[in-house]
Amino acid sequence: MDRNQTLVYEPVEIEAFDFRRAMEEASRCLLCEDAPCSTACPSDTDPEKFIRSIRFKNVNGAAETIRESNILGASCALICPQEKLCEQACNRCGIDEPIQIGKLQQFAMEYERKLDKTYLSKTDTYIDKHVACIGAGPASLACAAELAKEGVEVTIFDENEKPGGMLRYEIPPYRLPDVVIEQDIRQLEKLGVKFELNHKVTIDEKEQMKNEYDAVFVGAGTWEAKKIDIPGINLEGVVNALDFLEQAKVSNGKSPSLGRVVIVGGGDVGMDCASTCKHLGADSIYDVFMETLKDAPATEKEKVESFKIGVPLISEFKPVEIIGDEKVEKVKFEHITNGSTMEMVADTVIMAVGQKTRQDAQYWNQRSDIFTGGDMVNGGDTVVQAVKEGKEAATKIINTTFKN
Ligand code: SF4
Repeated sequence: MDRNQTLVYEPVEIEAFDFRRAMEEASRCLLCEDAPCSTACPSDTDPEKFIRSIRFKNVNGAAETIRESNILGASCALICPQEKLCEQACNRCGIDEPIQIGKLQQFAMEYERKLDKTYLSKTDTYIDKHVACIGAGPASLACAAELAKEGVEVTIFDENEKPGGMLRYEIPPYRLPDVVIEQDIRQLEKLGVKFELNHKVTIDEKEQMKNEYDAVFVGAGTWEAKKIDIPGINLEGVVNALDFLEQAKVSNGKSPSLGRVVIVGGGDVGMDCASTCKHLGADSIYDVFMETLKDAPATEKEKVESFKIGVPLISEFKPVEIIGDEKVEKVKFEHITNGSTMEMVADTVIMAVGQKTRQDAQYWNQRSDIFTGGDMVNGGDTVVQAVKEGKEAATKIINTTFKN
């Protein structure tokens, strides 16, 4: 393959239920009392309620139920690890297969998008209050939505050109298309939430905001890649996963040929890199990680997907050296228990070994007068967990600031 050739993402249709398939799946639901699927959702979405609506052909009601609890309901339908949350808890597991709750949520959210529906409205309870949310990722968006519903005037600041944070700049478009992110953002705009984009808020500015706003929420995410200190880590051809995914996304997958790729890391980000490399036409892709296959942090869905697209997952090896002159040529690994070694040839090495909050954002976690939530507090978790924390922060702002 010509190494200077430019490659572009192939458009991918995300498979969705049609009306008949959605009705069939909803009719399998037992409509349980005290449904465990409902208590398993961090964002408090109630699958029993929205599936009941679908079953009675009230798709509008289903979409409304989802929206009331999750401002990122459309995105979460596609990227939530349902098999570890609602679907794992589903009572139907003991009979045959769990209800495909994520697919039914996707069906209801597609109805909302196609008909450009709006379900959320504002009260005027706190109409005189102003809140600044720093960062336009999931936690900030959820916090902003909850406050806006109570009449609060919310402005979200973000240094990027578009809102969405990790949703926008990390998750590949064939898992989460931009049109779905836009659908969720539109709900915030309809609630009157304002966005100040391309605006990096400095520490001084944040201090000033403390005086200008009734409350400040910081959801700065984890935008700094963790680095492992091994020989050769700075060779040309070694990239971190965050930069790789962001670059692939903002350039719409236009990328110089990657050649033979070795990915280090067994989390969802590593698997996203693997599928992105596949879309970009890499010559070969291997994903190597320290954990056993079972213990690797990626979801089962992601691991299965990697197998399906032909990416071998090699477990229980850690990288000890990246070999090359100026550019990477090989990666040396060592088995974590028996110490045996192996070398893998590579033109590109993608390090997906975790991420952390940037130094300047860590400052805000230590402040009791600033509200925080999402990955910068929990160290990196699911989007739906960030939604939960954003909602909790909004409740805290109302209870501790507005009511005093
Ligand atoms: S637990 Fe499963 S079967 Fe019961 S209401 Fe929830 S989705 Fe339906």
